[in-house]
Amino acid sequence: MNIVLLGAPGAGKGTQAAKLVDTYHLCHISTGDILRAAVKDQTPLGVKAKGFMDAGDLVPDDLIIDLMKERMQQPDTAEGVILDGFPRTTTQAVALDGMLSSLNRPLDAALLIDVDSEVIVKRLTSRRMCRQCGYIGTDADAVCPKCGGEMYQRDDDNEATVRNRLDVYATSTAPLIDYYAGSNLLVKIDGDRAPEDVFVDVEKSLHLK
Ligand code: AMP
Repeated sequence: MNIVLLGAPGAGKGTQAAKLVDTYHLCHISTGDILRAAVKDQTPLGVKAKGFMDAGDLVPDDLIIDLMKERMQQPDTAEGVILDGFPRTTTQAVALDGMLSSLNRPLDAALLIDVDSEVIVKRLTSRRMCRQCGYIGTDADAVCPKCGGEMYQRDDDNEATVRNRLDVYATSTAPLIDYYAGSNLLVKIDGDRAPEDVFVDVEKSLHLK
């Protein structure tokens, strides 16, 4: 099963992807996680990507497409992938179609997790992540409830950067809704609910339950 998770930053793509991984052991690929690791390790990709990420802008397509071409070749993707945060532009979506067809793997669904912008601003400015296991929580979590690790706020989760990320989403990524609707792959899910309730719909839409 190969799935694209669509939705604004903070819509809950990472949370739903983590639930799919826990329950069905699918391979989760988050370009944001890969880029944050590259920034932390100061790799050539990380050095190039950092400024774009700090500003809440998109990292250029060619860098992302090269990164994903390599990632999709790894053996752990063979049983299927959950793509979280990729594609984010029409150019990336066309490149993904090429990658999947050269690997002979069809795309099964594009799930749009739909949440109002003002709800997102509140969510993201109070979002915290675990440094150790990547658990996504809130400012109410003093330590990670999963592993006891340190919770931190992402550099790009301040209000000004969040608003820019939402503008970038509206301009560059929202056109993918029509792109996937056109190929009958789009499923829209109301994301303004408890993660467990959203997950019920995610499972239903993928015919897992
Ligand atoms: P995310 O964790 O998905 O919110 O991504 C964090 C940041 O990484 C984004 O604001 C972008 O700067 C960058 N990024 C992640 N995925 C992509 C992508 N597919 N295309 C361009 N930039 C990306």
